[in-house]
This record gives sequence, structure tokens and C-alpha cells, in this order.
Amino acid sequence: MTDVIVVGAGLGGTSTAMFLAMRGVDVLLVERHQGTSPHPRAAGQHPRTMEFLRIGQVADEILAAGHPPSAFRIKVAESLRGKVIHTIVEDFDDVLSHVEQVSPAGWGSATQDQVEPILLNQATKHGATVRFATELVSFEQDADGVTANLLDIASGRAEQVRAKYLVAADGNRSPVRERLGIPRSGFGGLSNHIGIVFDADMSELLPDGEQWLYYLQNPAFTGAYINVNRQDRHIFAIEYHPEKGESFADYPHSRIIELMRIGLDAPDLQPEILWTGPWEMAARIADRWRDGRVFLVGDAAKVTPPTGGLGGNAAVCDGFDLAWKLAAVLTGEAGPGLLDTYEPERKSAAEMVVNESLFNYVQRMAPHLAGPDIPTPVGPIQAVLGVRHTSSAVIPEPNDGSPTMDPFRISGEPGFRAPHVVLPTGESTLDVWGAGWALLAGPDGGWDKVDAGIQYRSLGDQYDRFGVGPEGASLIRPDGIVAWRTTDKADEVTLKNVLRQVLSC
Ligand SMILES: Cc1cc2nc3c(=O)[nH]c(=O)nc-3n(C[C@H](O)[C@H](O)[C@H](O)COP(=O)(O)OP(=O)(O)OC[C@H]3O[C@@H](n4cnc5c(N)ncnc54)[C@H](O)[C@@H]3O)c2cc1C
Repeated sequence: MTDVIVVGAGLGGTSTAMFLAMRGVDVLLVERHQGTSPHPRAAGQHPRTMEFLRIGQVADEILAAGHPPSAFRIKVAESLRGKVIHTIVEDFDDVLSHVEQVSPAGWGSATQDQVEPILLNQATKHGATVRFATELVSFEQDADGVTANLLDIASGRAEQVRAKYLVAADGNRSPVRERLGIPRSGFGGLSNHIGIVFDADMSELLPDGEQWLYYLQNPAFTGAYINVNRQDRHIFAIEYHPEKGESFADYPHSRIIELMRIGLDAPDLQPEILWTGPWEMAARIADRWRDGRVFLVGDAAKVTPPTGGLGGNAAVCDGFDLAWKLAAVLTGEAGPGLLDTYEPERKSAAEMVVNESLFNYVQRMAPHLAGPDIPTPVGPIQAVLGVRHTSSAVIPEPNDGSPTMDPFRISGEPGFRAPHVVLPTGESTLDVWGAGWALLAGPDGGWDKVDAGIQYRSLGDQYDRFGVGPEGASLIRPDGIVAWRTTDKADEVTLKNVLRQVLSC
């Protein structure tokens, strides 16, 4: 029996498979297409994603694949050279230097078609089996596992595989979620767009080496343009209106090119169109992220407008979260109850992501929707680095229940990401918790003598950053979230009890 079958080789599936395989879990990933998607779609990795990719030992490759992120600009304008309505990001260096204070992991700008193969390659290096042109047709689950009915698309051969768990990373339309009858809630469909990937020489219009994202509010159409990080490759989007009887078929290449020439101020543009397709801008979160032995990750669990570039990032973060928890249960380190923490923790993170994206969508593409129904966001940095984790895998302190905290003011409170410091050993805390559960302690409490079977590091004189005093200690989970802290001196029995509690043993 396989440990885990992952369905889908998008960002959700490839990251889940990689993080599972590197923890020694036996993984089979199936994808119905012949390979990963050639569409550049998600073009950025925020620092929380980069922290996880660093743990996956692929961060350098991802950073090298993109533009230097400082060369990133975002504007809302009538056209590339036309009236600018808002400047959203002018100087990304400012954002970068600010965020470097809380996370050393950096900011990637690789595109989805570059990232997925890197994650898959790492997954297979760690022993994952990947089968393309293989579709999950149906599945049944019982008390001991899941029976997956697979179809080899080329040969038409059917096969049954047993696994202990099934991960549905099968995208927005998720056949697995549909089969389980799990409904979704949220704003629902917002608008409809035609996506276009094209090659063209735009060097006269855009400074070399810079990455531009333009939201286009032109009298002729609403849309978006992004130059991806390869010479001459670009993405364009045009909103169309099914509610007025329009369909994708009403946009042949000739009409698309006409609108591109208007939006790009390039009347002579001769694009080589590589791909066109319709997609729906939507905000929907699945009501349940788990059904027995089946888990939803990525767009299967929530879909968010791409305004803000958070959907693909959230898929990777889902994959990391589910992988460390599944691995802990499969190796016997944790009890099955740990898996109950996946949904509450990742669903509240998804709500933050959807709020940010919706706000951006209204500001950048649909100002007519502005109003009290649109949630006020906390800001992207807080939404990804400052989310409170509330579940049985955290022992909370009395708190005001706010779902997020400013990551520049985090103080070591359980449920939040541990502050980043460089330890007296010279290590980044990120690399310590990335290797597994860790106890970080003040120098005077005798915690170095405690053996709880987890890593120990002294905080030296930086104990105040964690709010534990010179004698106390902070217990950090493998995702960098503070699980528990104390200002008391070493107490092995208490620590072991705490570990049993947060691991549901
Ligand atoms: C135009 C656009 C721009 C975007 N820009 C950004 C951005 O800048 N930043 C960002 O973070 N996000 C962005 N996103 C969102 C991001 O692309 C998605 O969130 C991400 O692709 C989700 O990954 P996933 O693995 O959950 O799903 P998907 O990428 O949809 O992958 C699902 C996979 O499952 C496979 N599959 C489905 N059913 C089966 C089956 N039965 N058997 C086998 N295989 C199956 C599919 O073939 C597919 O390959 C954008 C999205 C769009 C549409």
C-alpha cells in the first residue's frame, strides 16, 4: 500500500509531493496531462512560500529562475503609455528591504511553468513516483485507506491503487471535491476573462530587465498585462461578459490582437499567440477541507482572484502544512488528531488571502464593486506572515482573538510565526525549525539538559524577542509556528506533556 496518492501536478500537488517525499513518505503523484502546465500564470513567491521552498532546498533554483524582484512595478492605467489611475508598486526595493527585517528567505519571481518542474524534480529525487497522462477516475475510502481507480490515458488501461491517504490537488473544479459533495462558500464568480500567452518583442515599450504588471481600465476593455521573466514572453487578459450574451468564441485572434494593440499602445504589434483560454475570476472557499482520509489543497480548497498573486502561493503553503502533518502521523510521531488541525489552520489563512485578493480586484479592475461588502484587508505582508493559527496543535495564551498580527511586532505568542533571529550558533531560526520541532530557550533555565527527543538551541541574549525571559523556552513547530512557551525553568515532564498534547498523541 502506498502512503499517499496526490492527484494533480499543479503548485498544490507538486509541493505536497515534494514536502512529503523529503520527509520519507511514499508518494504517488498522478496528473492527467502529459506534463506540467506550460502557462506562466502564478509569477511570484512571497517570503512565507520562500521559507518553505528553502526548507525544500529549491529556493536558490527558484530565485535564479526569476527577475531580480526589485525590478517589479504594478500600475493601474488606461494603457501602457496612457493615463495612470493608480501606482500600486513603484519601488519594490522598499518592500523588499522592509520584509527582510522579518524573513531572510527573499522574494521569488519565477513563473508557475518554471516552478512546477523544479518541485517535481526535487520530489522524484526524494523518491516520489510521478505518473503523467494518468487520471484519477474514481475512489472509495474505508477505515484503513483509499482505493483509487486510475486510468492510463495512452493505453486505456485501468488500475487500482491502495493508499493510506488521498490528497486532492486537482484544481478549482476539483473532481474529488465534487465527488465528495463538498460545497463552497464566498463571493462566488466575479468576472470572466480570456487569458492569452504570447511572444512579441516589446523592448521599445518596456525597460529591459523590468517586470511590469499593468491592470488596464481602458474605455475599450478591462484587462491586464504582465511581462514574464523571459525575453519576449507576455501574458494578457481581457474581460468578457457572458451576462451580455458574450462567449469566448466571440474573441477570435483578430479581435484579441486589436484589443492588445490598444492596451499596449502598440498599433504595429505582431504577437505570436501561444495560448488562449477562458477563466473565471472567483472567490470560493470549500466548506470542508477534509473528508476522512481525503484532503483538499490549493485551488481545490479555495480559489481566489489572482489580483495580488496569492493563490499559487497559498497552494504551496497548503502543501507544506499538510505534508508535515501527514508525515508526522504516518511515522507515528503524532496521533491522527494532528490531521484535524489542517482545515482550521489553512482555512483561516485562505480567508485572509481571499480578503486581500478581493480588495485588490475591486481597486485594480472593478471599482464599481467598492462598498461595505468588500472586506478591508490587513495588508499582504500581515496576511501571509502574521496569521494566527488556532487549533489543537497550539497551546494558546489569553488573547484578543484577532486573526492576524503585524509581523514586525510579533513577540513569540503561541499561534504566530516565530520571530526570526540569528542564533548564537550563527544559524537562522528558519533553518532550525525547518529541520523539525525545536526548543529555543533562554540561557539560564537549564533547558539544555532536557531530553524530549527534539532539537535544542540557546537563544543567547535574544530571549525577549520570544517573550520567554532568561529562564524560559519556546516550542517551535516544523512550520515555524510557536506551539507553546513558558517563562519557567526547565521541566522535562511538562515539555513532554505539551508535546504529546500538540501532537495529539
Ligand atoms: C490568469 C491567472 C493568473 C494567476 N496569477 C497568479 C500569481 O501571480 N500568483 C499566484 O500565487 N497565483 C496566481 N494564480 C493562481 C494560481 O495559478 C493557482 O492558485 C494555482 O495554479 C493553483 O494550483 P493547484 O495545484 O491547486 O491547481 P492547478 O494548477 O489547477 O492544478 C490542478 C491539476 O490537477 C490536474 N487534475 C485535475 N483532475 C485530475 C484527475 N482526476 N486526475 C489527474 N489529474 C487531475 C489538472 O490537470 C491540473 O494539472 C493565477 C491564476 C490565473 C488563472
